[in-house]
Amino acid sequence: MRSHSRSAGPVLCVAVPVPVRRLFDYLPPEDGRLPPRGARVRIPFGGRQLSGVVLGHAAESGVPAHRLKRARLVPNGPRLPEELLAFAEWAAGYYHFPLGEVLQAVVPAPLRGGRLPRPEPAWRAARGAEMGSLAARAVAQRAVLATLLEAAGDPRGAESLAQAAGPGWRRALAALLEKGLAEPAQAPESISAPASTQTGPELNPAQELARDALVGALGGYRSFLLDGITGSGKTEVYLRAAEVVRERGQQTLFLVPEISLTPQLVERIETRFGVAAAVLHSGLSDGARARAWLAAADGSAALVLGTRSAVFAPLRNPGLIVVDEEHDGSFKQQDGFRYHARDLAIVRASRCGIPVVLGTATPSLESLANVEVGRHQRLVLPERTRGATLPRVDLVDLRKVPVREGLSRPLRVAIGETLERGEQALLFLNRRGFAPVLTCYSCGFSARCHRCDARLTWHQRPARLRCHHCGGEAAAPRACPECGDELHPLGEGTERLDAHLASAFPEARIERVDRDTTRRRGTLEAKLQAVHEGRVDILVGTQMLSKGHDFPGVTLVGVINADQGLFGSDFRAGEYVMQQVMQVAGRAGRGQRAGRVLVQTGFPDHPYLRALRQHGYRDFAVAALKEREALGLPPYGYLALMRAESVAAGEALKFLERARACAASPSGVQVLDPVPAPMERRAGRYRAQLLVQAHRRGPLHAFLGAWLDAVQELPETRRVRWSLDVDPMEMY
Ligand code: ADP
Ligand code: ZN
Repeated sequence: MRSHSRSAGPVLCVAVPVPVRRLFDYLPPEDGRLPPRGARVRIPFGGRQLSGVVLGHAAESGVPAHRLKRARLVPNGPRLPEELLAFAEWAAGYYHFPLGEVLQAVVPAPLRGGRLPRPEPAWRAARGAEMGSLAARAVAQRAVLATLLEAAGDPRGAESLAQAAGPGWRRALAALLEKGLAEPAQAPESISAPASTQTGPELNPAQELARDALVGALGGYRSFLLDGITGSGKTEVYLRAAEVVRERGQQTLFLVPEISLTPQLVERIETRFGVAAAVLHSGLSDGARARAWLAAADGSAALVLGTRSAVFAPLRNPGLIVVDEEHDGSFKQQDGFRYHARDLAIVRASRCGIPVVLGTATPSLESLANVEVGRHQRLVLPERTRGATLPRVDLVDLRKVPVREGLSRPLRVAIGETLERGEQALLFLNRRGFAPVLTCYSCGFSARCHRCDARLTWHQRPARLRCHHCGGEAAAPRACPECGDELHPLGEGTERLDAHLASAFPEARIERVDRDTTRRRGTLEAKLQAVHEGRVDILVGTQMLSKGHDFPGVTLVGVINADQGLFGSDFRAGEYVMQQVMQVAGRAGRGQRAGRVLVQTGFPDHPYLRALRQHGYRDFAVAALKEREALGLPPYGYLALMRAESVAAGEALKFLERARACAASPSGVQVLDPVPAPMERRAGRYRAQLLVQAHRRGPLHAFLGAWLDAVQELPETRRVRWSLDVDPMEMY
């Protein structure tokens, strides 16, 4: 006879990586022992085997006994530390996202299944091996062997061999192993160790004040905004504070926007610290990530350095959290679990009772508002180090001067002068490809993506039309498909600028840095290295160049077009443009020689650009904050954005209308009408969105929880993909 009674005896409440915001009950493993909170278990789920995390135990389950399935303990599965588990629970609650999926993001894939990482493969030169044994033309083999010999018996891993010999290193190494010139070796540590240590420069008085404030706050929660102009020595301040943290036997969690864009940073930190950092970012192999994760978890890494997901790094003895370039958009995850790593870093610091410092030259308006209300303490670094001064900024009115291929005469002249002085120029254009439009002058035809509401970008080499929204590609038509006339590229991207510069300055050594030219591993590093070593005269690139690079030889920065975004539909568009342009401008004149910045614009009277000329980010911010306050927009109001997309036209919008209808009219919360997304069709799907606005966080979150429970039950959810974005950073 079937029992319909509730099951008796303890059950496990398990977070399962499925898109449902609740826990699931399971019987404990057969041996009768109750896996503790944080333990990893394997569980049957809808015919599949998944791995989940035990969140707690219950005396009985609402599920009938005969339907309860049994969990198995994952052998070797790392148990999540309580602090991290509770923090993840908090984050899942705040973002109204399933805890099981949040936890999935927290633990590296191999560890989830209980596989322990193998030590990193490494090699060393065989005894007696010497360069003389290799032919001069075996270039790659020579490069690998030279690196191994240089290491004098210390093993070297894939990373450093790839750096030395380029993409052919594997084959070269195989040849050396074959010839008996190299041999496999055990890497000395689970994380790579630095080659040498250095002491830092003497801090200037402003840096000292900032460091003292951070050090004085250790041991308790406190949040700081380190507001220092570009090149003012912010990194130096973090490093000094981190040294003290280490002396106290604690760890510093150091979050940066994109590690691949600032490879020097890791090196700088490691040589200064004399220890290896546990580095966590998405470009790592599973094994490398697992090793770094374990080094953070067991406390052996004094420094944990990573991109946004590292805010969930396990920390045995947390002492300080640093968020460098806190204004940077990459701290916000834009799909799946849409969290903001800067905001979570503040929450985590407060839960751990440790200080957090947000550093930037162009603070987000959110952080400035937090300074205003006394939540963050502001530390200011008003001057550049090494006596460098901020560059002079001039606006070039594109309506009043001759312009060819996007380059105005004043900028062209300035580039020429810079080259004559033997200095470097950096040109910023946030658009890759040759031209954003391929058009017919006779009939007005322009090439469009058939899956998106967007034009196709013309790329010359290789000759393709590409959609920058869905990744779609097409061959370029030879002539206008409408009228047969000739097609013309209109406007310019980095590829066109690069080509034009090459003909205008035939002697100059030009490098282009954008997603197209840096796809292959190691090319970006090589290009940046070439700039540092003065082997590049003109550097052309997209926003990849705006991020934290320290190029002492660059004295001229040209912003090809500051107008993209000045009039954007997103209320944050102006803030983003200002931050980006200020950051790029900040690459000029960081060394001994003064720098200059030319900003090309069709709107030189725009108040933002006028502020830019005075390096007046602060003036801009004050004005922008006033505007936001008047409109009740963040940081003076709180938003949540529900997005939906559907294959059939109209379904997404219909779903959101139904969703809006089941919103119980909340007080203090405004649910706006659903609207099509600014670019309605993307990758063949129709997109719509619905904005929820509130003056205070509390009522907003109370509303969201109840609302989502109702929305989840709508039958229309089957025909759409939908998501909720709490504190959205982009409004589409
Ligand atoms: P930021 O992070 O503000 O852009 P960095 O910390 O990278 O600035 O410093 C810029 C450069 O100045 C680096 O090369 C750094 O080594 C150097 N530097 C920093 N502080 C000092 C100092 N007090 N004296 C001399 N050089 C310094
Ligand atoms: Zn497309």
